Amino acid sequence: MNLTEQQRAAISAKWKGQHILSVDQFNRLDLETILAVADDMRVIVKTVGTCDLLKGKLTCNLFYEPSTRTSSSFAAASERLGGSVILINNVQFSSVTKGETLPDTIRAVGSYTDAIVLRHYEKGAAELAAKYSPKPIINAGDGPGEHPTQALLDLFTIKRELGKIDGLTVTLLGDLKYGRTVHSLARLLTNFEGIKINYVSPDSLRMPDYLIKQVGDAGVEQHEYDALEPIIAETDILYVTRVQKERFDDLAHYEAVKDAFIISPETLKDAKQEMRVLHPLPRVNEITMEVDDDPRAAYFRQMENGMYVRMALLYLVLGKQ
Ligand code: ASP
Repeated sequence: MNLTEQQRAAISAKWKGQHILSVDQFNRLDLETILAVADDMRVIVKTVGTCDLLKGKLTCNLFYEPSTRTSSSFAAASERLGGSVILINNVQFSSVTKGETLPDTIRAVGSYTDAIVLRHYEKGAAELAAKYSPKPIINAGDGPGEHPTQALLDLFTIKRELGKIDGLTVTLLGDLKYGRTVHSLARLLTNFEGIKINYVSPDSLRMPDYLIKQVGDAGVEQHEYDALEPIIAETDILYVTRVQKERFDDLAHYEAVKDAFIISPETLKDAKQEMRVLHPLPRVNEITMEVDDDPRAAYFRQMENGMYVRMALLYLVLGKQ
């Protein structure tokens, strides 16, 4: 889809000052705009490194759960756009430890900064925060709920790697029950034509029924499997996820499923040459290091793309037109 200047300007205006809480907020035009702006950001970084589109703007990373990529790429995104960042990556050293509620912490941080990038261990936390925040909230992962900015960078990566998104067969593998990135990505893919989604997981980590229903109602073809072999040859994007240890009440259950799928060069022998392996990272055991040398392994490029997409989002929400 080629965007006109007017379309881009209209979408940019639409997102000014908005919360980004769920992928359900985006339509196809929004997505095409975000991908196009992210590509511009990539060019800015590669050519001049920084710019001043966010000059005078201050964001806060408020993280109640661990993060490497999301937090540092948001911080880098802000700095590269000429903005500044307050990092609260370890809420145990904040008043949260004194018993402060999420709404009060949000009110405080929102009174000093222009936007809050929030990661929290509870599903729905970003939505709750948005009710009390005087400034835009960007959901950087709410427990097993959603991770919209990750799904956007996944899309950007698919587009950059394969040149298109329409018509692809996407296989989501691993912990589909607790993995918030696949919850967001499957829904985001409903905006594209001719998508087929395969779900591969142990039975106890299946994609939740409400998501299968939502994706199915949008007209996407879906199939569930407990093994990758039958569908590796038809797969265009193999999206591997980590089993989310921190979400299990019963560690024996985690131990039983943690190594259910391990992707090795052997696993990929029947895959297409144009197939790509994505992973939101961190990986634990689910992709062997030998796969890293395969040109089809796109997860480190995907990680870099996160910064460009987050620059695009910060620009759309906070930047000068
Ligand atoms: N980094 C991703 C997330 O925060 C994936 C993961 O942790 O497995 O959801």
